[in-house]
Amino acid sequence: MTELSFLAVHAHPDDESITMGGTLARYAQEGIRTTLVTATRGEVGEILDKDLDPQEAAPRLASIREGELRAACAILGVHELVFLGYEDSGMMGEARNSVPGTFWQADQAEAVARLIAIIRRVRPQVVATYNEIGGYGHPDHINAHRVAVMAFYHADDIKLFPGGEPHRPSKLYYSAFPKSQVRAISQAMKRAGMEDRFARDDGEAPFAVDDDRVTAQVDVSDQLQRKLDAMLAHRTQIPPDSWFMKLREVLGERAWSRESYERVRSRVEAPTPEDDLFAGLR
Ligand SMILES: [Zn+2]
Repeated sequence: MTELSFLAVHAHPDDESITMGGTLARYAQEGIRTTLVTATRGEVGEILDKDLDPQEAAPRLASIREGELRAACAILGVHELVFLGYEDSGMMGEARNSVPGTFWQADQAEAVARLIAIIRRVRPQVVATYNEIGGYGHPDHINAHRVAVMAFYHADDIKLFPGGEPHRPSKLYYSAFPKSQVRAISQAMKRAGMEDRFARDDGEAPFAVDDDRVTAQVDVSDQLQRKLDAMLAHRTQIPPDSWFMKLREVLGERAWSRESYERVRSRVEAPTPEDDLFAGLR
């Protein structure tokens, strides 16, 4: 039987744990080969670790965050971490976006070729990344989406992308935060007197998607502690007193016990809705 293989494509260290840490932990635990591709080392991110002096730590943030990501991967049981080798672009509109070497400035075909080389080697049936707005509009997330989608469709195209054994992944997913879930979290935060991190003028969080786009929900309640521990391994990004962690106090296990996805493409018969991204493949 063919080895089952799961590939997650992300922009920065910490995105994997927040959006699909439970899914990675669950599939690793089930013996599925799990590979995480991270485009950048997040070198222009925040430094919220109280044990670090931000000025001193800033120049070495890339290596600090690489270490944090390796620790998170060990917690989640991720089999292999691969960096795509670009630099963090910073938020949309920042001057940083035009710096050569940043992911936003990357040559698209070259970035796709790098990811295709990984796909041909680890041969995933399932590929998961962000949706077309990159989850919340960060340039690196949008680019991770574009590169992952292109690589999904062209990994078997040996003429356009020569080298290696062509491979055709079966299913493509976008990670998703359904509006109903985001609203429930928002209301619970308000009731608890917490800052509503999702608030926007029209009341909708920018990253929330319509519920009817959500086709798969993976139960990660058994992996919840590992997901949270992996999030906390990103010490510069998610301190123990962070909003993310308070959410669990307010909402309990419910806050993080399911991870949602939108199935964008399937080359195998699979039910809708699904509770397993490998439905139809085993
Ligand atoms: Zn990110």
